Amino acid sequence: MASKSTTRKRSRCLNCGFEAPDGDEEWIQIEVPKLGRMTQCPNCDSTNVITGQSIA
Ligand SMILES: [Zn+2]
Repeated sequence: MASKSTTRKRSRCLNCGFEAPDGDEEWIQIEVPKLGRMTQCPNCDSTNVITGQSIA
């Protein structure tokens, strides 16, 4: 009965396809003036990353 599906949110780099859990230490967090915090891919240094994607 108690089947709570914990859909872990993931982030994905659109440049190289790197994937890791959202907020994971693998991602590089950079501060950008005005924009705030952005996620950078540790694999290709791209900031073209979609965050908070729930992949079932
Ligand atoms: Zn990448």
